[in-house]
Amino acid sequence: MRAAVLHYPAPIASSPLVVENVPIPDPGDGEVLLKVEACGVCRTDLHIAAGELPPLRQAVVPGHQIAGRVEKLGANVGGVRVGQRCGVSWLGGVDGTCPLCLRGRENLCDHPTFTGYSVDGGYAEYAVARADFLVSLPEQPPATDLAPLLCAGIIGFRSLRVAEVQPGDRVGLFGFGASAHLAIEVLKFWNCEVYVSTRGRSHQQLARSRGATWVGDATERPPVPLDSAVTFAPSGDVVVAALASLRKGGIVAINAIHLDRVPQFDYDRLLWGERQLRSVANMTREDARDFVALAQQIGIRPRTTVFALEQANEALLAVAEDRIDGAAVIVPPEQAAGNP
Ligand SMILES: [Zn+2]
Ligand SMILES: [Zn+2]
Repeated sequence: MRAAVLHYPAPIASSPLVVENVPIPDPGDGEVLLKVEACGVCRTDLHIAAGELPPLRQAVVPGHQIAGRVEKLGANVGGVRVGQRCGVSWLGGVDGTCPLCLRGRENLCDHPTFTGYSVDGGYAEYAVARADFLVSLPEQPPATDLAPLLCAGIIGFRSLRVAEVQPGDRVGLFGFGASAHLAIEVLKFWNCEVYVSTRGRSHQQLARSRGATWVGDATERPPVPLDSAVTFAPSGDVVVAALASLRKGGIVAINAIHLDRVPQFDYDRLLWGERQLRSVANMTREDARDFVALAQQIGIRPRTTVFALEQANEALLAVAEDRIDGAAVIVPPEQAAGNP
């Protein structure tokens, strides 16, 4: 099969992936083989390619927003049938036995498997995944519209949960990329007022077209105090701007694996008053299944830019340079040719 492989260390920073022929993997105990229909590109893939997430193997196929169909079952797999449409997300598996798993916080598992990082992901024609971590996907819409739901969407949704958003709240979204443009659909469904602070005219226009109540620049403070905010930009300044926008008792959820620097802020002015600063780490299967069901109920359709697998490096670069409105999605050759 064709696969876009990251060999560590990446020889060329601007094109870290090598699209090459590799053997189709075989599903092991409890696993399935999926025929990939589409795989979303996530900013985390950039951090993996840049080595900012430390290499765990000599080479890996990135991609953790896989929409595909079950091609083959490994041993001891139940509840899944060949041909079924399924999704795979960042959380590829957990041990189920560590203290955090036992507390129901599998997103913080001590021994997690991360798709497209600790195991091969979906920048390929086929991918193997643990059957008990699959998310069942609907037959409609097309896979290119489903893939971005599987990290950008789920993580955005988890961020709203971490920020304890209630229906009707005033919520700030700082940054308006792949995650935020899906989270806003959930917020509108919950009748929230949504205040978007983001750089770039096209991202601001997308926010307006998706029903934002107010749109400003990246660190611009909304005109009203917010009940909660989610930051998506990997920027300490943005975190400070979000904190400064909160009412007393409000919550900022930081949705970024990296910040460019530790935010410096005035405790008395910005955190006093039981304001809270929280990080959002990974996801749970419950987040994934709840969000996919909600997305179907609302009819969420992402804004996508589709790249052929052979153009995987171009897709990464476009995301790195912030040239994509919405989400970038990679499709394998046969899918790109229009076959079912
Ligand atoms: Zn991701
Ligand atoms: Zn665990």
